[in-house]
Amino acid sequence: MSMIDFNKMIDNHLKRENYPKGVGRYYPSEIGMCLRKVYYSYMHPQEIQPELLKIFEVGNILHDFVVEVLRSEKNPDVELLKSEFPFKHEVDDFVISGRIDNLILVKISGKNVLVEVKSTGNIDFIEEAAPHNVVQLQLYMHVLGIHDGILLYLDKRNLKSKVFPIAYDEEKAKQILERFRALHKSIKEGGTPEPEARGDRKTLWMCRLCEYRERCYEETPRSREWM
Ligand code: SF4
Repeated sequence: MSMIDFNKMIDNHLKRENYPKGVGRYYPSEIGMCLRKVYYSYMHPQEIQPELLKIFEVGNILHDFVVEVLRSEKNPDVELLKSEFPFKHEVDDFVISGRIDNLILVKISGKNVLVEVKSTGNIDFIEEAAPHNVVQLQLYMHVLGIHDGILLYLDKRNLKSKVFPIAYDEEKAKQILERFRALHKSIKEGGTPEPEARGDRKTLWMCRLCEYRERCYEETPRSREWM
């Protein structure tokens, strides 16, 4: 029997073409993250590491599972209405767009509710909806005009889940659009945004996963203001 290198096969299967992102087209999934990181990803695009692609794929697989559960006839109280959203929202001279692949529309007790699915490595640590996830859902609720939302977290290890209802907040949604404006302005004019994830202990985890870490610390050395 000949052996196969299944790790390599997965890498081949998941490999994506790496094209630079176009100025003026932004993605809802990024705006909750550190603005400087998003900025760098436009100015200095880097190939996504195979390890990261695999982690994303686990998220996709779990999302499909959630859709199955919501669609199941054994759960008659919830009706699945939609599980894939093309998304396009024009603002000034740019557009926020992309296929949203972690969003589901369901009907619960006659009400339309947007469900955003997030996978997590350990659900015991999830005690509330993560702010950068809420940001994304607020934007979806605002643009799609559906003002009831749920963040659904699912543990990758054991399929345990937690649900957090999120109330639509127009002010927050407007602040998010302002973030896109700021991002667009920085990219157009070439001014690096502040290293915002380093400004607060609560967001410092973003830096651990950031492929621009080195560049960021070079540009803004550690200081009292920036960790
Ligand atoms: S290292 Fe942290 S602050 Fe700097 S770009 Fe990355 S996420 Fe943002």
